Amino acid sequence: MKTVPEHRVWRNWAGTATAAPARWCRPRSEAEIAAAVKDAAASGLTVRALGSGHSFTAVAATSGVALDLSGWTGITAADTRTGLVTVRSGTTLRALNAELGGLGLAMANLGDIDVQTVAGALNTGTHGTGARLGGLATQIEGLELVLADGSAVACSASTRPDLFAAARIGLGALGVVTSVTLRCVPAFTLLADERPQPLEEVLEQFDALAEGNDHFEFYWFPYGRNALVKRNNRVAGAAGTAGSVPPLPAWRRFWEFEVMENAGFGALCRLGRARPRLIPALNKFSSSVLSARTYTETSHRVFVTPRRVRFTESEYAVPRESLGFVIAELRRAVPRLAHPVMFPVEIRVAAADDIWLSTAHGRESAYIAIHQYTGLPYQDYFDRFEAIVAEVAGRPHWGKMHSLDAARLSALYPRFGDFLRARSEADPEGRFGNAYLTRVLGR
Ligand SMILES: Cc1cc2nc3c(=O)[nH]c(=O)nc-3n(C[C@H](O)[C@H](O)[C@H](O)COP(=O)(O)OP(=O)(O)OC[C@H]3O[C@@H](n4cnc5c(N)ncnc54)[C@H](O)[C@@H]3O)c2cc1C
Repeated sequence: MKTVPEHRVWRNWAGTATAAPARWCRPRSEAEIAAAVKDAAASGLTVRALGSGHSFTAVAATSGVALDLSGWTGITAADTRTGLVTVRSGTTLRALNAELGGLGLAMANLGDIDVQTVAGALNTGTHGTGARLGGLATQIEGLELVLADGSAVACSASTRPDLFAAARIGLGALGVVTSVTLRCVPAFTLLADERPQPLEEVLEQFDALAEGNDHFEFYWFPYGRNALVKRNNRVAGAAGTAGSVPPLPAWRRFWEFEVMENAGFGALCRLGRARPRLIPALNKFSSSVLSARTYTETSHRVFVTPRRVRFTESEYAVPRESLGFVIAELRRAVPRLAHPVMFPVEIRVAAADDIWLSTAHGRESAYIAIHQYTGLPYQDYFDRFEAIVAEVAGRPHWGKMHSLDAARLSALYPRFGDFLRARSEADPEGRFGNAYLTRVLGR
């Protein structure tokens, strides 16, 4: 195993967190992962497994040993009859989607990017959208971990169920996840329908839209009147087979996803950053040029789009019925901000689940994500948003900006105490701790 004792700096995608690990390791086997954990203990260092650095918070940051799992990838077992697939934890979602496609399988739901590692995405409660579907962690059937003493353990709903309940969304606090068994579904095609609609109308129809579509979400530019409504529904057969809506031609994918949504929007953002007073007008302009598109495509090519324009984000899950209140308050708050907002607000939905630290634990949820272009001030906006969602018991995404601490979070999660107990059993000395965990879980 390669151990690099240099003070190479770690930085996340958004540039909102940095760290100087005392040591970097790139293990290539479970034995090497266990050895890295034992070596860290012998040196009195803490350990954090790294994903792809796509959390906005410092959840992955460490001043101890940084475990780079990019050499620990690939599917190790797959049963195409049951859909159960075991994958090494450092595999990216992109690589997983490609390998699953080759097996005629797919993830039942995904978020909007695929560069995260499997373990990174699962550990922070990454989710997509769909009122009848849970976040990615609801697709986990089993986990294997290396614990603080270097031992390798497996857990599932029937084997060490408390460890499983905690580690499904474990914030990297229970141990190093080495592999994950996911319940996948047969590969499927989505019919994507995206079109602008007045925000009022979308809010009036919100429940029907959420219930009536497999995957429903909308984007709202906070100075504009229109929302971009995305409805993705499963259809039989492969994309573009006779009689169905065709996929987008390659040139149009390139034009819309790369040129318009990344290069063009990026240019508007840079203009807004240089001339902040133009931002409300640029934001209204972005809202007014939204156009419709309908196409069919393999599921992950609909869920996932390239995100090249960098931003900072906060996202809260609220009880679904509270969405109208939050949007109304945001509409009032945004025009009063000292620094205008360049990016749209994204709204998604999820079914209730039973995972202890899931943001959708025990309640049907609406997710509200707010963003600001990189380099533009965001603190005031994010603080006001937090004050609004606090009124409806909002729970922050573990990988996105928020200021909540253990005292506030314990009141939001009925199984918080159980999580802390499972953590202290698995990691009594806090070997996998860091400053973020100290804040959100307490000492
Ligand atoms: C552009 C962009 C788009 C996004 N879209 C979505 C979205 O659609 N939906 C959504 O919910 N979120 C979204 N996110 C947030 C993102 O999915 C999460 O923050 C996710 O955790 C990032 O995964 P990662 O691999 O980068 O993990 P990192 O951020 O590197 O790490 C996350 C956590 O996982 C832990 N970890 C990693 N590997 C292991 C392991 N093997 N064992 C134990 N712990 C481990 C780390 O220690 C850390 O605590 C987005 C983020 C960005 C930047």
